[in-house]
Amino acid sequence: MRSDLKHYINGEWIESTGSETTEVINPATEEIIGRISLGTEADLDKAVQAARAAFPSFSQTTKQYRIELLEKIADEYAKRKDDLIKVITEELGAPLSLSEKVHYSMGYHHFKQAAEELKNFSFIEKRDKSTIMKQTIGVSGLITPWNFPTNQTSTKIASAFAAGSPVVLKPAEVTPYAAMMLADIFEAAGLPKGAFNLVNGSGEVVGNAISSHPDIDFVSFTGSGAVGQKVMENAAKTIKKVALELGGKSPLVVLEDADINKAAKTAVSHISMNTGQVCTAATRILVPNAIKKQFEEAVKENLADFPVGDPQKENVSGPLVSQKQWDTVQGYIEKGMNEATLLVGGTGKPDGLDKGYFTKQTVFTDVKNDMVIAQEEIFGPVMSIITYDTIDEAIEIANDTVYGLAGYVVGEDPETLQKVAASIQAGQITVNNAKTDYSAPFGGFKQSGIGREWGDFGIEEYLEPKAVMGMPS
Ligand code: NAD
Repeated sequence: MRSDLKHYINGEWIESTGSETTEVINPATEEIIGRISLGTEADLDKAVQAARAAFPSFSQTTKQYRIELLEKIADEYAKRKDDLIKVITEELGAPLSLSEKVHYSMGYHHFKQAAEELKNFSFIEKRDKSTIMKQTIGVSGLITPWNFPTNQTSTKIASAFAAGSPVVLKPAEVTPYAAMMLADIFEAAGLPKGAFNLVNGSGEVVGNAISSHPDIDFVSFTGSGAVGQKVMENAAKTIKKVALELGGKSPLVVLEDADINKAAKTAVSHISMNTGQVCTAATRILVPNAIKKQFEEAVKENLADFPVGDPQKENVSGPLVSQKQWDTVQGYIEKGMNEATLLVGGTGKPDGLDKGYFTKQTVFTDVKNDMVIAQEEIFGPVMSIITYDTIDEAIEIANDTVYGLAGYVVGEDPETLQKVAASIQAGQITVNNAKTDYSAPFGGFKQSGIGREWGDFGIEEYLEPKAVMGMPS
């Protein structure tokens, strides 16, 4: 069993000032992998002071220095590929292939992309009457969730480093180990002391201390809406800028001319990938009434190709991350069974998977958009099929949600694809399974958040524009 009871502060692993710890559990086996320290406000304060001390020189580093730093980080990250994949599978329960192709890969791409963005990024812009300088915002506090342990941390850190901002990170206590590996990566890449600090702990103590600390200038938070609200409230006391990446209830609009089997495969991939624990997952599948029956059949067939199973095996969907998440998802499946028609799945564990937080992939049909399962984020492998008759109706249903993180559309007719893509009120729309673009902004409309990550938009979050009038040339 691992014992990692230290925090990474000012380039060193140091003892916590407190004695509380928490277990980290492998969700596929329910075995304890290790134990981490639950940090204190004093630990967090030490980390903030280290970041503050690093700020004057780190924020003044040149663009070229930061490009090379980010490239070295990507190289060091890549050297640890096997270990990262192993750790992500152990702590999150993601199947090995997913840990490699999605989790590991996203982290790598964020560091590489930030270096690329910097090459064309201008920190100074001359206008007719003024000079606009984009200056580092200060020290950044980063709070991340458990569902993408390398993606969430890397996108924030890569943008922060590109902007010259030292950071204090509190990773999710459920999945801390991939984040802790970053310290070694940064050290090997030659990051100056104090530019990266990591304090493990609970949201109530360390997270709360980050959002309220007067020496933190910017908080970038990814997680649930309820906690996002608390972060914003706390940050307001010191007029701290916040970026919030929150939940979603994203629609997938299947057009009438779509290939039904391909569309069903796409829908299934959204509940199978990461066991549906994806903020951008399409969980409301909007299908024309005319093809409802064929679509339902195709969903059943495609689900059979992607069973739930041991994440050490190929082509499976893994367990949920924790007992807490399992209980939440069961609660929603029960609600769904009371309000809609169960097509596949249901409550309880899949046959033969009694140990581990495995849950049945569940599909409801005849769902109405005002039902609980269509309005609330479930964060598990639960699909709701909702039918529509006209494209305008589909768009209305798609937008009838408090969320606006992502949207998807599949079909053939270019004009209809364009109309749907333009009309869904969300930060990221994917047409016909287009590939991820790491240079494109990522973030939400409405209650899905404030601000953007990824690419140049991500870097801008860690900068303040300064207007200088009368600058001698
Ligand atoms: P969560 O909100 O419970 O926790 C997220 C992080 O906040 C954790 O590190 C937690 O310890 C910390 N935290 C908890 N209470 C806090 C407090 N009072 N003050 C400060 N920090 C606190 O979310 P979760 O269960 O870890 O993650 C799932 C949620 O994250 C889902 O709602 C999902 O949609 C969302 N999410 C959003 C995105 C996005 O980019 N929009 C990406 C991934 C996950």
